[in-house]
Amino acid sequence: MNIVDQVPEHIRTLVAYAPGKPIEEVEREYGIANSVKLASNENPLGPSPKAVSTIKERLDQLHLYPDGDCFYLKTGVAKKLGVVPEQLIFGNGSNEIIELAVRTFMRPGDEAVMAQQAFVVYQLVVQAVGGISRAVPLRDFVHDLDAIARAITPKTRIVFLANPNNPTGTIYRREAWERFLRKLSPEILTIVDEAYFEYVEDTDYPDSLRYHQSGKTLLSLRTFSKLYGLAGLRIGYGIGSNQEVIGLMHRVRQPFNVNAAAQWGALAALGDSDHVRRSLEVNHEGMGFLTREVAKLGLGQVPSCANFILIRVENGDEVFEQLLRQGVIVRPMGVYQLPQYVRVTVGTMEENRKFIEALRKIIKA
Ligand SMILES: *Cc1c(COP(=O)(O)O)cnc(C)c1O
Repeated sequence: MNIVDQVPEHIRTLVAYAPGKPIEEVEREYGIANSVKLASNENPLGPSPKAVSTIKERLDQLHLYPDGDCFYLKTGVAKKLGVVPEQLIFGNGSNEIIELAVRTFMRPGDEAVMAQQAFVVYQLVVQAVGGISRAVPLRDFVHDLDAIARAITPKTRIVFLANPNNPTGTIYRREAWERFLRKLSPEILTIVDEAYFEYVEDTDYPDSLRYHQSGKTLLSLRTFSKLYGLAGLRIGYGIGSNQEVIGLMHRVRQPFNVNAAAQWGALAALGDSDHVRRSLEVNHEGMGFLTREVAKLGLGQVPSCANFILIRVENGDEVFEQLLRQGVIVRPMGVYQLPQYVRVTVGTMEENRKFIEALRKIIKA
């Protein structure tokens, strides 16, 4: 039997993540220029300037292997968060941490629980190791933590939560989270994906780090891809309540999983409080503008705590296509079984206005 025929069913039935085409290709295809990309929740201000200048200064060191331990970055993040370095693990984006956790703690037939409309990567990596995903429907676009707790079985190894959630932008609040925690066995690894946590302004938001002493097994995920504007560098990290959990994941990871430029850039970005402040201001202003203008157009929307917003346009694929013709790239939500919606990243005010004008034309027609 040849190698391809021996591939098990759970690999054969995987559906590859569909990345968008390069922006240049889309522009050529549609005969447009200067298009605005509001599709991937990237920082509209660009990368931290401090990260850019630090990386430029060190380009002549690219022949050297990176620090396999991320020593300086780890020390910097530990100090900032008030945790010990042994609680930290860095990855090629926080996506790699998701994968490492699954590869370390799940075996074929084991189960993971997550929301049905959450980040697609969770179910992808679980399936890749032969695990089984139990996807729990959202309730009014919010994680239904009671139903998630009920979906846990003796086979459950990992629970995935995203707070704020992607693609909804919603959060679950402190009361629901604390009720969930009380029911949770410490034998289960609960991964709280907080890729957007810096954007949250809601005072009832439960920062998972504050619950690391609760006796449960928590892994909080953070990233440099969103607020810090470093999505292209690929760097994110996990903070574990249990150092043994992190230690096991370190054994599974590749020795040089985080590239050198990412380590330099992330450390510089961490100290770039000016870029962070401006990024949060731009998001706050843009979110307010989009929320008001979408309401004026008479469209539904899901209240968002993150840097993007779900808008109900009835036919998401069609509106996506029509926006594209006007040079605005958003994300249709078919993959999340939300075909009536598009997800739009908050851009600069100029980009937000261009989007609203394009949307207005489509609605009027
Ligand atoms: C964008 C995003 C991330 C970040 O992934 P990286 O690999 O760090 O770029 C993680 N989780 C969710 C839910 C996201 O939307």
